[in-house]
Amino acid sequence: MNITWRRKFTWSPERQYYWDFCPRAYYYNYIGEWEEGMDKEKLESLKKLCSWEELYKDLLLEGIEELVTGDSVPEVKKRLRNRLEKVFQAPQDFLIPGERDVYSSSEEILGVLSQYLDNFLSLFQPSGIQGYFYRVQERIYYKGLPITVSPDFLFQHPERTIVSKLIISPPSVPQLLDLQACSLILWAEEKFGMEVENIFCDYYYLSDLRMERKKYSRPQIIELAEKIIIFAHRMLIVKGIEDFPARSEEGRCRLCKFSSICPDTDYLQ
Ligand code: SF4
Repeated sequence: MNITWRRKFTWSPERQYYWDFCPRAYYYNYIGEWEEGMDKEKLESLKKLCSWEELYKDLLLEGIEELVTGDSVPEVKKRLRNRLEKVFQAPQDFLIPGERDVYSSSEEILGVLSQYLDNFLSLFQPSGIQGYFYRVQERIYYKGLPITVSPDFLFQHPERTIVSKLIISPPSVPQLLDLQACSLILWAEEKFGMEVENIFCDYYYLSDLRMERKKYSRPQIIELAEKIIIFAHRMLIVKGIEDFPARSEEGRCRLCKFSSICPDTDYLQ
């Protein structure tokens, strides 16, 4: 197995998500491009596909960014409609196969998206806090392990920092939210020089209209960070494709962007 990917390895919640979803899908997403005999062009085009949930998040974050810079809610919704129409004109360019027939019209999906935007606005109450949109990818090191974080937005107050993420629906592995919160808090600690006890991670759940605040003591952060190291170690001790078992199962493969190139699924799209 080509080892170039090792030099580029960083742990991230997204990587962990792929690993837990299906190690073979992880292989295609993070390692395939370095492997001999892989159709790199095809792989790149598949990697760009997303689920409705990922698309919602992208569109909502764009909309929130526009709201933060002063646009009105009707203006933002109008732009969301235009973007959605593009997806409906060529769904094969945007969506994984199992997600292409979920909605019958852009109006239907616009209704869902508008509801999520309204839910966000009803949860979002930054009174007395200076907030700004972040939406970047940054890298930190914990005991030599590179970790990539992607805060959605950030609020700062003289005594505390709040890093926030949008969640459409709760993940199937809830522990991932703690690992993600830990990585964001470690990042904010390094970036803003603040004690971890004064950094919170807020999750905005848009499908069930609630906000969850994660806060941890220093020993809890250390415990979570040690788990991240263990998970990263498991991802790094692999030697060949056989170390990435295919978790073939209808519900999973239907939502996998690599099902058209995976020889181990019985659920080809
Ligand atoms: S198609 Fe199924 S088995 Fe193959 S990578 Fe995707 S989820 Fe895994």
